[in-house]
Amino acid sequence: MKKKIVIIGSSFAGYTTAVNLAKLLSGKHEIVVIDRQPEFYFLPSFVWYPFGYRNTEDISFDTRPIYEELGITFIQENVYGFDLEDQLIYTPNHDIEYDYLVVATGARPRYESIKGLYPGENSWSISDLENAMTTRKAWKNFLKNPGPIVIGISQWAGYFFAAYEFLFNTVYQLDKKKLLDKVSINFITPEPYLSHFGIDGLGRDPAKWEQLFKDLNIKAHVNSEIHEIRNNEVILENETHLDSNFTLIIPQFIGVNAVRTTRNFADENGLLKVTDEFYHPNYPNVYAAGGAVSVPQLNETPIGLGVPRTQTPTEKMAQAVARNLTSDLKGGDRISISTQELYDYCRKDMNYLSRMISEESKNGKDTLSFIAKGTQDKWANMTMKKYIEASFSKNFMYTK
Ligand SMILES: Cc1cc2nc3c(=O)[nH]c(=O)nc-3n(C[C@H](O)[C@H](O)[C@H](O)COP(=O)(O)OP(=O)(O)OC[C@H]3O[C@@H](n4cnc5c(N)ncnc54)[C@H](O)[C@@H]3O)c2cc1C
Repeated sequence: MKKKIVIIGSSFAGYTTAVNLAKLLSGKHEIVVIDRQPEFYFLPSFVWYPFGYRNTEDISFDTRPIYEELGITFIQENVYGFDLEDQLIYTPNHDIEYDYLVVATGARPRYESIKGLYPGENSWSISDLENAMTTRKAWKNFLKNPGPIVIGISQWAGYFFAAYEFLFNTVYQLDKKKLLDKVSINFITPEPYLSHFGIDGLGRDPAKWEQLFKDLNIKAHVNSEIHEIRNNEVILENETHLDSNFTLIIPQFIGVNAVRTTRNFADENGLLKVTDEFYHPNYPNVYAAGGAVSVPQLNETPIGLGVPRTQTPTEKMAQAVARNLTSDLKGGDRISISTQELYDYCRKDMNYLSRMISEESKNGKDTLSFIAKGTQDKWANMTMKKYIEASFSKNFMYTK
């Protein structure tokens, strides 16, 4: 009998699941994707958006023609809840039934955790397109009246690389505009040492990072916890006050409200604990992938860190969900991925930036010229292209 599979979220996790499922199920079952927006936004490129390296059309594509080609139905709706017993999804306009549900809703910034952290209040954000656009305006205004800068990561945040990348791009911009000598830069992070990244480092010497920060005249504050962000000031829990005319902090991310508010579904952070095959232990017809999944922390640190999240583990989870759901429907191999393997994929992604610092840069100037060469841009372009091509490529299928 034909079954209905509904995927909520159409970004890295949801899009990858949908495309893989369409290929594996060859039209024998109904696939529906729901997202509040039809565009796929390439989130990692938001790091460059404020500096004008990227415009919206460079970092997004409309998923609908691809879904149509693959026989997938797309519904643009904001899901606000689930009835897991009756297998219903609630949106403002419809109650949508499902036989299988895939939660690929990612996570949302927890701006409310720190006073003054809301974008536009006393700090700026690159966590979504709207805020990246506002941050671009804020950056332009800052350049008219430059002063001290604070860039950093909040306690319990996990996107460490976004903060480091934004920091180095900021330094590069200031250097290009001959403003580096006029601006003091503070970098705050809950990591116990620079380049910890929530995984106790990548096996390289943190002293290299410390030297790089010195070369670039960036003052690093490790083991930092933010108390409050005020207009022109960031206050740490240890009572350090840092002047700032431009503050950008990567926040903690927690599960989206629709998942968090559904009873007996998510953990205390609104994320879904799933098996190694990515189904919910209490609801075997409910799968999850990507940022919506609860991944255990590897090690304890003096100040709480979030679990680092990157794109490859998300893709791998989504490919496993597609394969396992196919196995539920018509048999065949299943894929399981351990927490350790997820971290290994994440390490591989993070090695990229670390390599740039530790191997390709002898000093701060090297790092700046590396950024100037635009290697990161090329990488992003390639990845973006990969996603657009993905739906038509057999190579996109996951084989283990
Ligand atoms: C600033 C920043 C920079 C990053 N840089 C990198 C990097 O350089 N390299 C890297 O590998 N990773 C990077 N990441 C991490 C990467 O972006 C995430 O791992 C990835 O986005 C997770 O994908 P996802 O599909 O699980 O969730 P998301 O990308 O968050 O997508 C969730 C989707 O679900 C939809 N949705 C959510 N709730 C609802 C609802 N209630 N109803 C309908 N639709 C809903 C959203 O509209 C969205 O389309 C970065 C993250 C950030 C924030």
